[in-house]
Amino acid sequence: MAPRPGISGHLGPGGRGLSEPLPPKIEVTCVEHERCPACGFDGSRYSDGALPAAIRDLGPTWKALLGEAGADQRVRPGPGVWSAVEYAAHSRDVTALHVFGVRQALTHDEPSYPPIEGDALIESAAATYGDADADLVGTELAGQASELADLATDSGSEAWSRGLTIGGDRTDVRRLLEHALHDSLHHLADVERGLVAIREGYPDEH
Ligand SMILES: [Zn+2]
Repeated sequence: MAPRPGISGHLGPGGRGLSEPLPPKIEVTCVEHERCPACGFDGSRYSDGALPAAIRDLGPTWKALLGEAGADQRVRPGPGVWSAVEYAAHSRDVTALHVFGVRQALTHDEPSYPPIEGDALIESAAATYGDADADLVGTELAGQASELADLATDSGSEAWSRGLTIGGDRTDVRRLLEHALHDSLHHLADVERGLVAIREGYPDEH
């Protein structure tokens, strides 16, 4: 298999190669696929090749949508609904968090973290989303998505069952990839709906 420059650099001294079998530290059960009745996302529909490719596509898709939104990119379609820029900034941070998670799972043996640390991080960052520069956000989001896709392809799908535990809930690399993709696709649909509402002049009431 091809060298893995994206990941080998993150292995610590004496770190094991990703292809070596790992000793089971906890009872590992099969992690279910990500599914969402609201937007119809079904992670099981993505082959091992399609999943990283879809993640990589997120950057261009977000950039195109932000560009298409034009002056509406900062408009909130209704009370409690984020603008396109705010959703994009959120998706950038969620993607970055998943880059971190996937890298941890690939380079450590079943690491464990306290609950909602990432959520708190994202919540505190949300206050700055409205003033974010759309071009910069799009570029940063694309960079994070590409990095996540690189981690997935460089490790090979045989490594996607490696896991990590956050607050007592175990997840694995494939599910992290599915969740990152779903989060972005879900919010892309939110933004598309919001832009339609703004243009039609009938902002959502909620
Ligand atoms: Zn969804």
